[in-house]
Amino acid sequence: MRQSSTFEPGISEGGEIDFERGLQPQDFSEFLGQKNLLEPLQLMIRASAARQETLEHLLFTGLPGLGKTSLAMALAKEIGAPLKMTSGPALSRAKDLVGILSQLEKGTLLFIDEIHRLPTEVEEYLYGAMDRFQIEWTFDAGVHARLLKLDLKPFTLVGATTREALLTPPFRSRFGHHLRFEPYSEEALAAILQRSAKLLRIHLEEDATTVLAEHARGTPRIANRLLRRARDIAQLENDNRVNRAVVKRTFQLLEIDARGLERPDRRVLEALAQAGGRPLGLKNLGVAVGEAEDTIAEVIEPWLIRQGLLMRTPQGRLLTPQGWVALGLPAPATDETAG
Ligand code: ADP
Repeated sequence: MRQSSTFEPGISEGGEIDFERGLQPQDFSEFLGQKNLLEPLQLMIRASAARQETLEHLLFTGLPGLGKTSLAMALAKEIGAPLKMTSGPALSRAKDLVGILSQLEKGTLLFIDEIHRLPTEVEEYLYGAMDRFQIEWTFDAGVHARLLKLDLKPFTLVGATTREALLTPPFRSRFGHHLRFEPYSEEALAAILQRSAKLLRIHLEEDATTVLAEHARGTPRIANRLLRRARDIAQLENDNRVNRAVVKRTFQLLEIDARGLERPDRRVLEALAQAGGRPLGLKNLGVAVGEAEDTIAEVIEPWLIRQGLLMRTPQGRLLTPQGWVALGLPAPATDETAG
């Protein structure tokens, strides 16, 4: 599902959703590079089918673009279950949730994206639905208040979140299995790129695949979007062939530098440098670079941390020594180095 982020590397807006849908894996065989997630899931599917039960509730956690929505869709196809997709922000009132739950067919996969954004009140209604397939619903108030018990058809909740830490322990404990999505290897990204190129009917050369995979930040969504940008150039200038030169041109246009940094990354690093080595909180950093806090925390920062350019401390975000080097600036003297 679309994330609320304003910045995603290598991206422009128009047509992105259709583009992503066209490349979505259709079943487990097309869901590449995450064997460690698929194997336990396949075991659960077989066991619950043998018991003739619905699959236990599943929690998918991980950064945007790692395939949480895709896996939910592939899973529904794999087990032949109806799929209902919604999101935490769309369920802002208990009424919205009750409306959806009461209409689920038996065995439906109910995918709730951004589940950390469910209001507490709505979350509590979900508990009974998850535990007993029942909701207790009070309507009217005071002496007229009436309690209505509604039996639901057994369903499987698939909750997805980029912010696992924001889920309460009672909520988290209600999921039978937790799948943690990690960044993909470059080989897995290369396989995803090759599959996408085939679907898009473009010729993607091997060394170009390698460079795109290296710059995809472990994220299939970014890999596919870099490919899309390269395809534009290849179509206009290179007879639909994406080679190394086309990728190089693509990166120039997207202002991706030799280290793989894009403009928003550089803005974050520069804002931290301007703080002169003092830690900056997420809020202040967001204001300084003009990006939403979630975008910084979920999209920009994780990669900068993995590159060793930025670190999170209890006081806020700081540049690492390599971060200063990346900006071509001397690191300010710290207490230890000064003393
Ligand atoms: P999330 O829900 O975690 O934000 P998505 O499922 O929307 O991520 O993935 C974004 C896009 O990346 C998908 O449309 C699909 O094209 C591609 N993708 C993600 N994971 C995989 C995978 N394992 N194999 C192939 N393509 C993938």
